Amino acid sequence: MKRNAVFPGSFDPYTLGHHSVIEKALPLFDEITIAIGINSTKKYAFSVDQRLQWIENVYKNEPSIKVKAFQELTIEFCQTNQCKYILRGLRNSIDFQYESNIAHMNHDLDQDIETVFMLCNPAYAAINSSIVREIYKNGGDVSQFIPEKMTIPL
Ligand code: ADP
Repeated sequence: MKRNAVFPGSFDPYTLGHHSVIEKALPLFDEITIAIGINSTKKYAFSVDQRLQWIENVYKNEPSIKVKAFQELTIEFCQTNQCKYILRGLRNSIDFQYESNIAHMNHDLDQDIETVFMLCNPAYAAINSSIVREIYKNGGDVSQFIPEKMTIPL
């Protein structure tokens, strides 16, 4: 069976931190689906279509990366897409605390799906989508925090 992983997240917007997680994970999996989670109660700065388009453009020459949006539980998305691994990134101990709880609960929901953590590249440890959003909303230049192939309209 192929080693397929799902990298779920809001990606509002996608950053160099997310990109570094994917770069580290690429050699480990046959296919990675970057899955944009849509929570109907959450307000996003960028539309799902915009986020899909950005991420698709970043990986347009990378056949082992797929990009999708989803609304169900991450575990259900993994099950319907035949993915045995959930990929998540860790920046610090706060991420670890939060992520380990989610990983344990996902394990309770399906013991066949394993969460794999990538420690972030130290250069990107401070990059956080919510801070990028704040800078953007206040008219700042966010280009140093996002992949080159993504152009955020100013
Ligand atoms: P969510 O709302 O699911 O936390 P995010 O888009 O904020 O979605 O993050 C998706 C994943 O990427 C999470 O596992 C998060 O810890 C990780 N991540 C976010 N920023 C970075 C970064 N700078 N370096 C490494 N991992 C990151």
